[in-house]
Amino acid sequence: MFSSMASLPIDPILGLMAKFREDPNSDKVDLSVGVYKTANGHTPIFEAVKAAEKYRLETEDTKAYIGMMGTPGYNDAMLRLLIGADYPSDRIAAALTPGGCGALRVASEFLMRANPDATVWVSDPTWANHMPLIGGVGLKIKTYPYYDKASHGVNFSGMIETLKGLGPNDVVLLHASCHNPSGADLSPAQWDEIAAVAAERGFIPFIDSAYQGLGEGLDADAYGIRKIAASVEEMILASSCSKNFGLYRDRVGQVAVMTKADRKEVTVGQISSIARGMYSMPPAHGGAVVEHILTTPSLTASWQKELAGICSSIQTSRTLLKAGLEKAGVEGDFAYLIQNQGMFSFLDLTVEQINKLQADYSVYLVNSGRINLAGVTANNIDYLAASIKSVTG
Ligand code: PMP
Repeated sequence: MFSSMASLPIDPILGLMAKFREDPNSDKVDLSVGVYKTANGHTPIFEAVKAAEKYRLETEDTKAYIGMMGTPGYNDAMLRLLIGADYPSDRIAAALTPGGCGALRVASEFLMRANPDATVWVSDPTWANHMPLIGGVGLKIKTYPYYDKASHGVNFSGMIETLKGLGPNDVVLLHASCHNPSGADLSPAQWDEIAAVAAERGFIPFIDSAYQGLGEGLDADAYGIRKIAASVEEMILASSCSKNFGLYRDRVGQVAVMTKADRKEVTVGQISSIARGMYSMPPAHGGAVVEHILTTPSLTASWQKELAGICSSIQTSRTLLKAGLEKAGVEGDFAYLIQNQGMFSFLDLTVEQINKLQADYSVYLVNSGRINLAGVTANNIDYLAASIKSVTG
């Protein structure tokens, strides 16, 4: 039975990671995978996470299952963080999920049950994994204009024109902040306009929040979420604690469906049944850690401080790269590197140049030209900029 299975190409990012690990060049630079790293290439554990884990080790007294939706304490703390303390609790069904990917998948299954004819509109381009997570349940996917190559910002007129043509059978996936892969974010005024168009046209906003706190700050990065939540009756929010709590491998996320007032119980039942059919119960550990941090003021303060440090270190990398490329004489205007938000931006490189960077200089980035800024450090910037200069001529 299994011999008929086709062999699939290895995931491009995982393939690059493996090549990077094996590369003996001591000057090698990794700009590929979307994980935060310090200047030594290490992905640290937040002090608040360590403290919460210690607390949990000492106080946890059972390993019995938690429910399909996760714990109410986690869901409440996350919704406060994302939407604010005044979130409409009577209209939101929320569940702890295995990572942001789990949230996106549960949300997609929910949409498929709600309306199998729905079309999900994603930004052009979007995070590559959105396609299998959303399309894998059988939903149609289309793209709306988003990234403007010339300005390295958002093609907002193209985007809003497309959204104005949508209606109640449409779902629009929006990145809350730190757009992956472009780093080009919407301004508050643009979010206001999208919220107004959503309310008028009746499409469902589906917000993916994977980087809250890594752009302009915890509240600023949630501006769009809060504006949309205040403007429409129905929306979906899929969030991840992988980056902002550094809990990548513990798989912590949340799916939250905002409904009409009398539909909350039905929605809870549907989400529970979807979870039951996929993984039954979410893992408890990471959610309990996040809940403890967000409900313990001293740990909340420590977590916020460390997160702000990560955010500013990424901004430092942005400044370093802009200055480094200019100093090396690479052609172009790199002001956009400072304007983009979060871990990613694009470099305007061809696939040939990207291949040459890897083959001749051990500089690793994905074929689209997306780079993870966390890989740019004071130690490697001169080498990196000189390598880019040499492949771009
Ligand atoms: N959405 C986006 C846009 C992402 O970049 C990521 C992480 N790379 C996720 C969701 C979810 O990640 P995870 O499942 O690791 O929480």
